[in-house]
Amino acid sequence: PGEAELQALQHADVAALLPVPGAESDKYRRGVVGIAAGSSRYPGAAVLAVSGALRGGAGAVRYVGPAGDAVIARFPETLVSTGSPEQAGRVQAWVVGPGAGDDGDVVAAVLKADVPVLIDADGLRLADRDAVRARRAPTLLTPHAGEAAALLGVPREEVESARLASVRELAERYGATVLLKGSTTLVASPGGGPVRVNSTGTGWLATAGSGDVLSGLTGSLLAAGLDARDAGSVGAYLHGLAGRLAADGAPVGAHDVAEAVREAWRDVT
Ligand code: AMP
Ligand code: MG
Repeated sequence: PGEAELQALQHADVAALLPVPGAESDKYRRGVVGIAAGSSRYPGAAVLAVSGALRGGAGAVRYVGPAGDAVIARFPETLVSTGSPEQAGRVQAWVVGPGAGDDGDVVAAVLKADVPVLIDADGLRLADRDAVRARRAPTLLTPHAGEAAALLGVPREEVESARLASVRELAERYGATVLLKGSTTLVASPGGGPVRVNSTGTGWLATAGSGDVLSGLTGSLLAAGLDARDAGSVGAYLHGLAGRLAADGAPVGAHDVAEAVREAWRDVT
């Protein structure tokens, strides 16, 4: 593909986009990211999404879902709400789906919010396409190849052999920005334009929970005010670099990657 089709962010581009607080900042202006994730079966997905969100630059992380006890035990700074997303306090961007199981109501409720929404994992399966298309605020979908194939109704190999066409097609069908995960990450927005490509990652990121960290991290960037395309590409950049720094040639768990996001951030600035 030519230069016009693919666009890679450089260190300096990422540095310029990172939300850095100034003297006027307070936690609400920095952004509150809401995480609607986890289930009794997968409480860890909620913990990992929150761990990514805490390192993404929002001023506060609010968690809604059944894994509040696990989240608060690990991250006491999290604002844990019970009840539905509509009843939660102020939120400037939502992340919905990691480890969510079959709770379609939560996904539907988040899609009605008039703030940016990132949909990942189970949320991709549960989200109604017309509800996504009807949204006015930005939406970012973050499938891996298998999830993208399910959304397109084609076999996984078809996505893997035509990643650029697949991410573009999904962006058009859903009227949303789409981040297609894999050994490289592609970010496409509806209406054409160059697709962002990120290759900071490493095979060590192919580990359970890795995508949950990315969704929290990227949601935090959305809450801090980046648009869907920038949040997706900056999130993928930091996550990939964090994976590299955390692994440093040896296996890592997803929680190690979340911790290394801070080192990646420093490395970029
Ligand atoms: P998930 O499949 O949702 O757990 O997400 C996996 C994360 O790891 C995504 O951010 C992928 O882009 C990343 N990843 C998976 N495999 C590789 C790989 N071989 N090289 C680089 N990044 C990878
Ligand atoms: Mg995943």
